This record gives sequence, C-alpha cells and structure tokens, in this order.
Amino acid sequence: MSEKMFHGVPASGGIEIGPAYLYRSQGMTSLRRELRPEEVPAELKRYEEALVKTRRQIVELQGRAKQKIGDDHASIFGAHQVLLDDPLFTEEVAQTISAQLLNAEYVLHEALGKFKTIMASLDDEYFRERGGDIQDVGNRVLRNLMGKGEKEDLKKLGREVILIANDLSPSDTVTLSTDVIKAFCTDVGGKTSHVAIVARSLGLPAVVGLQNATAEIRDGDLLIVDGNKGLVLVNPSAQLVDQYRRLKENYAAFQKSLEAFKTLPAVTPDGHRVTLAANIEIPQELDEMERHGAEGIGLYRTEFLYMNRVESPSEEEQFNSYKELATKTGINPAIIRTLDLGGDKFLSHMNMAEERNPFLGLRAIRLCLKQPDMFKIQLRAILRAAAHGPIKIMFPMISTLSEVMESKALLQECVEELKKEGQVFRAGVEVGVMIEIPSAAVMSDILIQEVDFLSIGTNDLIQYSMAVDRVNESVAYLYDPLNPAILRLIQMTIDAAHKAGKWVGMCGEMAGDPQYVPLLLGMGLDELSTSISVIPEVKKVIRMIPLAKAKEIAAAALKVRTSDEVFDIIRDGVPAELRSILF
Ligand code: PEP
Ligand code: MG
Repeated sequence: MSEKMFHGVPASGGIEIGPAYLYRSQGMTSLRRELRPEEVPAELKRYEEALVKTRRQIVELQGRAKQKIGDDHASIFGAHQVLLDDPLFTEEVAQTISAQLLNAEYVLHEALGKFKTIMASLDDEYFRERGGDIQDVGNRVLRNLMGKGEKEDLKKLGREVILIANDLSPSDTVTLSTDVIKAFCTDVGGKTSHVAIVARSLGLPAVVGLQNATAEIRDGDLLIVDGNKGLVLVNPSAQLVDQYRRLKENYAAFQKSLEAFKTLPAVTPDGHRVTLAANIEIPQELDEMERHGAEGIGLYRTEFLYMNRVESPSEEEQFNSYKELATKTGINPAIIRTLDLGGDKFLSHMNMAEERNPFLGLRAIRLCLKQPDMFKIQLRAILRAAAHGPIKIMFPMISTLSEVMESKALLQECVEELKKEGQVFRAGVEVGVMIEIPSAAVMSDILIQEVDFLSIGTNDLIQYSMAVDRVNESVAYLYDPLNPAILRLIQMTIDAAHKAGKWVGMCGEMAGDPQYVPLLLGMGLDELSTSISVIPEVKKVIRMIPLAKAKEIAAAALKVRTSDEVFDIIRDGVPAELRSILF
C-alpha cells in the first residue's frame, strides 16, 4: 500500500475520495484502424488466434456447464462451437480485413452489426434466437481480440467507485452508471477527449492524460481525485484523506454559493472592472459559456479542430467553426489562437518529425511559419469569420520580433488574396501575441509596438523560465507561478502593454487559480481568461478584493525574494472574509 501521486490534465472540476475500479472494457466506436498492406498477414493471424482461443473457452465453458446444469442445457455451447464455423466468422471477416485493409475488431463489429439488423427483421423465432447466439459468440471473439476478459457489469458492483481506464469511448462514458461512478481517471486524453466533455456535462470530477494510471493503480486502492488540480493520490495517508474530505465539503458549499455570481459583473468593491473571459478547447463548451457568466473568449485553442482526423481541416470547415464561435459570443470578443501544435500535441496525419526536445522544437508559430500554406488556410478562415463577429487573432509561442512580423505579413497576404477574390471578410482584425517565452516577456515593450494586445500564457512561461517540463512530475516542485522570477516577467509584460496604451490579459492556468487572483489584479491585468468551470469562483474573488488592497499586495509581492514570502503576502493581505475562503 504505497502512497503515490499522479499528475494529469484537470478535465472536470471537483474532489472525490473512493476505491479504484479498473475498467477494462472498451467501446466499439474507437476500434477502427486502417492497416498498411504489409500488416494484413499479422492481422489475419491475430484474428485466427482469437477464434482458436474462443473455441477453447467455449469447450471449457461446456465442461463447467455440464457439471453445474447437466448435459441437456450445456449443449448450447456445442451449438456455439458450430457457430464458430459459420462463414461470417470463417470467411467474411478475413476477406474484409484483406480487401478493405481494416483491423479485425472493427470488421467483426461491423459484420455483427449488419447481421443483427437482418436477424431482427425476421419473423421466425428460431432464426432470431440463432442471431442472438451468433452475437454472443461474436462478442466473445471481439473480447479475445482486444485481450479482454468477461464483460464487466458495473451496475452489479453495488458500491461507489472511481473508474480508472486506459481510455473511454463516448459510448462507454455515457452508458456507464453514474450511480456507482464518482469520478473518472484515464491514461490517455486531454481536455478535448470525450471523457472530459462527458464528465463535465455529468458534473463528475475527472483527471485525464495520467499516462500509466492503469498500470500502477490496483482495483480497490483508495484514491483521492482532485479534478480541479488534475491530481490523483493513491493510498493516501489518513491525514491527507481528512484534509481532502474537508476540501470536498468546502468545495461543494462554495460551488453552491457561486450560482449567484454568474450574472453579476466582474468588478471589485471599489469599482474596478476586469474582463473575465473563457478558455475554450472544444466547441461544446461554447454552449456552457453564458451559463457560467463568461464575457467572451480570451483563448480559443484551435488544436482540437486538427485532432482525431486523417487530414487537416479545410478553410471552409474552419470558417464555419469560427463563425459559429463569433455568433455564440455575441457582442463579446473571441480571441482565436492560431494553431499550437508540437510539444505534447501531435497529429498523426502531419508526419511531424520526432524531436529530441519537442517543447523546445518545431512547435506552434514556428511550425506554422514553416508551413505557410497550411497556416494561411487558418488565417483566411479567421479573417472571413471575423466579418460575422468581434473576432481577434492571437499568435502562440512568439520568441522574437521577426516571428511577429512574419506572421503579420502572412496575415496581410491573406487580406490581399481575399480582397482580390472578392470574399466577405474583415481586414482590420485586432492582432495579439502570447507572452509565454521569457525572451518575449523581456522584449514585450518592443513586441507591443507591432500588435494590439498581449496575453500571458503562464503554462509555458513558467516551463520555459524555470527550465521545468510542465508535464514532468519529478521536477514539479519548480513549477511555481509565485516564483519572483515569474512575477517579474509578468509585471514587465503588463507595464510594457500599459505604457503603449494597450491592454494585456492572462490566459494561462494561473489566471484561473482563485488564490492568485488578488495578486494578478493588483499587478494590473485587464483581462483574466480561465476555463469556464472556474469563472464564477474567480468572479466571486474579484468582487471581494478592493483594487487598492490588491495593489498593495502586488507591490509587496514584487519586493520579496521567495515564493513562500509571496504566498504569505497574498494570504495576509486579502480581507479576512476572502482569506477564509481562499486559504
Ligand atoms: C499557456 O502556455 O499558458 C497557454 C495558455 O497555452 P497552452 O496551455 O495551450 O500551451
Ligand atoms: Mg502555451
């Protein structure tokens, strides 16, 4: 019973404590895989082995059944053995694998589906029953193909569990019983994965992208899932459990109290108005925005549009997505960030070269500038959508002025092209850059001359300033937003923008941490952009901290030497009522 901690992606907020349940099943929707011709023989062999294994299992089952229920009833398994010789299994699947270059699971699943539809349409009871038997045998072959054991039935568990899975298909997630499942944790996935979307809509905490949770967590291990921070604690001490129980209770009470804030403006008690916008990763979140009281979009991550598909999205497809976004934010601005691929975000269809240090490699704007044709498709789509609403554009991972100039030049090229083509578009779209590399923060007074706004991406700014991989658990102690070095870079950026008479926001996760909000307001940020689930909470903090007090906190915080001292300054500086909520 060793204590362990996993860091993942906080996909859905909330805290849960309970036993782990390893879910081994897999939905059928995620099964399709295309094969290269040379993979076919191995696939056929794998299929053949699954058939052999299935036959062996049926013989075994028949033996056990004979002992338990007698010869007569056990004969059904004899019939199942015969069914395995049905051409559906012996010929059809194998032929389709070879002809269509598709994996065995998918082909069998499709064949069974078609067979089921035909059987269901028949009046003859004998054939309908035989259809059911074929399905049973087919599902057994499928489970063997996927290396799965018997089908698990969560409903039979009769106790509340935290579900641990390698991945969950949409059908898995929605059909799982939420009566017994209190939280989801998966090895794979990011905020855009379906499990994250569904977890959010079910209101269950979820942490995804845990990488090796299924390998390291055992059935029955006691878990704490912190969906707010993306943490999973395995077999925690009694003291930690107590601490998290309290956090959970407080969180529930706090969430309830937040309902009232959704429709109120983000204004401090002394009348200072801040823009509180949303970070959007998936289009489904657009519908949730208003319900959470967001004033527009501070960061629209466009990567999701390019993922889970075989080719990049066309200009038309992107145009439609961005137009929908413009329509849904209404009069509020929507900042579309151009493609930020690379680092830990890869696409199979783009054939990106493997890099030794992907976070320091061909990522985001660097990749886009290297592939201007692909980049221009996105820029054109954004310019066209901007004719339908207050869209702004933002370039990620800027390290130098020349990258800004090159990006702007490409944007201008797109303007000229669209003009020539007589397309409907908006020419004067506001342009901003993300400040997430120290060189950009240091040069922010120069960069701001060329753009309309800056947005600080602390997720990367911390990573690059502290030389700490943002997804590496062993150096996580260095990943500290309150480190004075980070605060200086942030302040430098804010001051540069203001000196040029322009606005500056923050869209990194730091902006959505309520504890940091007083400090960030005092430092002078004009906009905070956070995931929608924390917006009401951040708004509550804004409405409780007078700007004058926040400024005092910021001034003091920028004078001290360590993050611990900064932390103390915030804790001691906020009004007592807010302190009891935040600390
Ligand atoms: C950031 O780096 O802070 C940011 C918002 O971008 P991303 O998390 O997508 O890298
Ligand atoms: Mg970033």
